[in-house]
Amino acid sequence: MPKQKLIIFDIDGTLYRNDEYEKNLHKEIVELLAEKLSCSPEEVRVKLRALRKETASISWCLIKLGINLKKFYEELAKRVNPSKYIRETKDVKVLLRKLKEAGFRLAVHTNSGRALALKVLEALGIDPLTFDVMVTSDDTEPKPSRDGYLKVLELADVTAEEAVYVGDRYDVDLKTAKELGIKTVIVGKGTIPNDVDFKVENILEIEKLFLKMEG
Ligand SMILES: [Mg+2]
Repeated sequence: MPKQKLIIFDIDGTLYRNDEYEKNLHKEIVELLAEKLSCSPEEVRVKLRALRKETASISWCLIKLGINLKKFYEELAKRVNPSKYIRETKDVKVLLRKLKEAGFRLAVHTNSGRALALKVLEALGIDPLTFDVMVTSDDTEPKPSRDGYLKVLELADVTAEEAVYVGDRYDVDLKTAKELGIKTVIVGKGTIPNDVDFKVENILEIEKLFLKMEG
C-alpha cells in the first residue's frame, strides 16, 4: 500500500483482544448505567439488548438512552482497571515503531472516552505519543458516524485515499471508512465482508501488508 501515509487504528479488539476485560467493562457499564437511570442492572440489560438491534455500537446505545457520553466515560474510566486484565504487548509496540520508521503516521480512533483509552494504552505499555492523532468520543460523535473519521483526516492533514483504517468490526469501524474512500483492514477470525480490502487474523500480520509487500 505505497500510497498510504496514515494508518488509523481502532483500539479495543484491534490493538489487543481480551475477553475477560471486555466482560468486566460491560459489567461496569451496566452497573453505572443502572445508577444513572435509577433502575436495576437486569432492566439495563433488557434496554441494551433492544437498542443493540438498531446499533452495534454501545456508545450509540448510551446516547439513545439520553446519557452524556463524555461524563459517562469519565466516570467509567475511574471504575475500571484495564491493567488488571491487559498485559503489555511488546510485539505490538515493535510493530508500531517499525511502521513509524517506515514513514507512516499513526492515529487512534476509538468510541471510548479519552481517559479510558489512555488507561488501556497504558496497560498495553504503548506511549500515547506514538500516535500523531487521537480521536475519541470526547471529541466527536462516535463511530460509525462520519464525524470522527473526518476529524482524524483533518488533524493528520491527509486525504481519505492516503489513509487506511484497521479495525475489528465491520459495521462500527470499517463501513464508514470504506464509504469515505479509506482503505480498510479487518482484524480477526470469521468471514470477511465483501468490500473489506484486506483481512488479517492478528494485528501483527499487518506488518506484511504495510512493510514487506511495499516497493
Ligand atoms: Mg474494536
